[in-house]
Amino acid sequence: MKNFVQQGRRMVKSILSAVACQFRFVEPWENQRHQIRSGERRLYVVGHHLPVGDFSLALRQGISPYQMISGKRFEEQIKWLLRDFEPVTLQEGLRYLEGGPLRHKSPVVLTFDDGYRTVYEIAYPILKRHGVPATLFVCTDYVGTDRLFIHDRLFHLLWRGHRIGLSLERFLPRGIETSRGQRPQPMTRFLLERLAEAEVLALIGRLEEVLSVLPPDYPDLLRVLTWEELHEMDRGGVTVGAHTKGHRILTRHPADRIQEELSESKRVLERNLGREVAHVAYPNGAWDPEVVRIAKSAGYQSGITTQGGPNGSAADLLTLKRTVLCEWATRGGGRNHSDHVGTCLVKGLFL
Ligand SMILES: [Zn+2]
Repeated sequence: MKNFVQQGRRMVKSILSAVACQFRFVEPWENQRHQIRSGERRLYVVGHHLPVGDFSLALRQGISPYQMISGKRFEEQIKWLLRDFEPVTLQEGLRYLEGGPLRHKSPVVLTFDDGYRTVYEIAYPILKRHGVPATLFVCTDYVGTDRLFIHDRLFHLLWRGHRIGLSLERFLPRGIETSRGQRPQPMTRFLLERLAEAEVLALIGRLEEVLSVLPPDYPDLLRVLTWEELHEMDRGGVTVGAHTKGHRILTRHPADRIQEELSESKRVLERNLGREVAHVAYPNGAWDPEVVRIAKSAGYQSGITTQGGPNGSAADLLTLKRTVLCEWATRGGGRNHSDHVGTCLVKGLFL
């Protein structure tokens, strides 16, 4: 039933997008929806996480579908962005917003968060092939290590538990109810939002024990980049930016911790890359005025969120909007990528 409803919704979106694009309703709709003046400059930012070779195979290995995009779909999305937008570096995008040279099409900035090794192995060759620049936001506590992200470990364990009908209740701290159901995706998000980091780590430890999961049992695809790979990409059109030290959700921490996460990651990247690092993407897109104040005082020029939609010329550069894309995000009524759906999505018409 749920699949049927989802498919119906996708079909409606697909038809609406096609009509809006065909009859040129997109801009008036976008202006009205986001209070942007007609003809005003706008910058779009899109975001990806984990490129994979075979999406179905990766799904069967217990990786969150909302993190992933196959190389094939990524290349389809690049071709669409080249048709409908003009891919630019983040720096060029910011210059454009601030009154820099006009462009033939709306500029779009491609970004990757977290710093998975497959960005180097799968996405980077595609970006080079099409001459498209991108920005990659990495967590400095992870680069060059064999550590896996907490969100990936938790999702993977919940996925394994779900497959064998494991009840989570006995593993959760008091007061955390599981009435939201135990499907891995919403459960991962719920637990990361509700539990303290130490509680999440304790839960991961207990689930690893009960499910007999050792470090090598996690999918290889979840590995992070090395410093060498990062250097090569940074010199080859993929600008590296910060995603904090340890991927902590900044709004859940006191000012001194936020300061450390933002300043230290900037410092470590600058030391390793030998240049200034001016951009940050907030983990989970979470920000508040305190986070922005500290990001600004740490010396960041821009901060990227996960709130979708266009950035108009009055946008605050430290809370730039961005549309997160994954394998399924730009599907039309069927399984295939649709330019119309993608464009309406990036322009924030379905928010
Ligand atoms: Zn992230």
